[in-house]
Amino acid sequence: MPYPRWSTACTSQSEMTNRRRIELPIVEANGHHRVVHDYRPAYVVWELTLRCDQPCTHCGSRAGDARPSELSTAEALRVVAELAEMRAREVVLIGGEAYLHPGFLEVIAALSARGVSVITTTGGRGIDATLARAMAKAGLRRASVSIDGLEATHDLMRAARGSFASASAAIRHLADAGIVAMANTNVNRLNEQDLEPLYEHLARLGIKSWQVQLTTPLGRAADRPDMVLQPWDLLSIVPRVAALKERARKDGILVMPGNNLGYFGPEEATLRSLREGDAEHWVGCQAGKYVMGIESDGAVKGCPSLQTASYVGGTLKDPSRTTQKTLKEIWETAPELAFTRERTKDDPKTGLWGYCASCDFGEVCLGGCTFTAHAFFGRPGNNPYCHYRARVMKERGVRERIVLRESAPGTPFDHAQFDLVEEPFDAPDERPARRIDLVRLRRKPRPFAKGG
Ligand code: SF4
Ligand code: SF4
Repeated sequence: MPYPRWSTACTSQSEMTNRRRIELPIVEANGHHRVVHDYRPAYVVWELTLRCDQPCTHCGSRAGDARPSELSTAEALRVVAELAEMRAREVVLIGGEAYLHPGFLEVIAALSARGVSVITTTGGRGIDATLARAMAKAGLRRASVSIDGLEATHDLMRAARGSFASASAAIRHLADAGIVAMANTNVNRLNEQDLEPLYEHLARLGIKSWQVQLTTPLGRAADRPDMVLQPWDLLSIVPRVAALKERARKDGILVMPGNNLGYFGPEEATLRSLREGDAEHWVGCQAGKYVMGIESDGAVKGCPSLQTASYVGGTLKDPSRTTQKTLKEIWETAPELAFTRERTKDDPKTGLWGYCASCDFGEVCLGGCTFTAHAFFGRPGNNPYCHYRARVMKERGVRERIVLRESAPGTPFDHAQFDLVEEPFDAPDERPARRIDLVRLRRKPRPFAKGG
């Protein structure tokens, strides 16, 4: 008889605060137990518009202006119906800033009416008491505000004076409106020293959960290689996040790592488990298995952060109608989404290479977060952002340095190319003298162009 069992899927902040997991039936046949997969877009991250009210230095989608042909409200409502038919459980509305789409509240209401849980992730710049109340009335129950450091750091990273104050105020407005307020932070060399005092600030604001992830050289962050962490920085950051998680438990706040923070170090179970004492661990990328991303012009990917040029499996909107498909068709037929479903460590295209190919955890881990590995080398399967790997290197007296070889083209969700250099663990680590130089552009982005 099949019986339900929890599977540790990719942890989205929505999922973790729900304390829910995807139930996978397990059947017994000929004495062997086998998980019966029920792949579906249970967790969807939907970029409603690329329009944004802040020019953040690390933005993966290089948000600012709307894409040339974004889904209208009517088109978005049709997507809502498709998502409901495909048994989407949660939809996270993002941007740019999702609230800058004219149909933002209608989309929330339509998803909510169909029983789909709706969340938004936001910089919070435009969320005042009135908008927060309208969001709650439309059916939004949870919102995650991006705060990346104390005031000076956050405003520098967001390239917007007053951003920290407005993000903090947004958390209060959301909570006052009855929405569960959460926070998320992107860690890099500009802000890592703020982690502990930032936690204290967020706790005072009354957040219920905090997601901590690594800034990946994607989009505008790829133009700022001095800003992103070097792999050996994880040796201190991962234990610090784990310690914060244990501290936060006592405050009734759930801290969870983003999918690109790990893997398999001594703190793995602490980091990945929802409850104290559990022994969960990373189980590989869930893009295209239970996760789906939709870009504001209808392009569909297995995960919102995957590089547009390599992972779009089809579009929901083609003015010429020649390539337009339904969500179901794309989900069921596009190899760009399906590649994780049968992926193995020896797969010639998406399998492991470099250090990851020889790693004892490789079969389960499959090189950690796909978009993160792709951001360094233009293909998945070899991920220098790994705690276990950095520890092994250190034991050998070496460390890996990422060195920019080729700049990113300057389009949403694009990536640069890096070389990986092994050096003595105690080699000099020269950094820019001033913090502001960490966010200095190492290239001038090309003008906006679709794709990438
Ligand atoms: S070295 Fe690669 S395969 Fe091994 S745990 Fe780290 S990311 Fe995963
Ligand atoms: S690419 Fe990374 S963030 Fe996206 S689903 Fe895979 S592991 Fe999660």
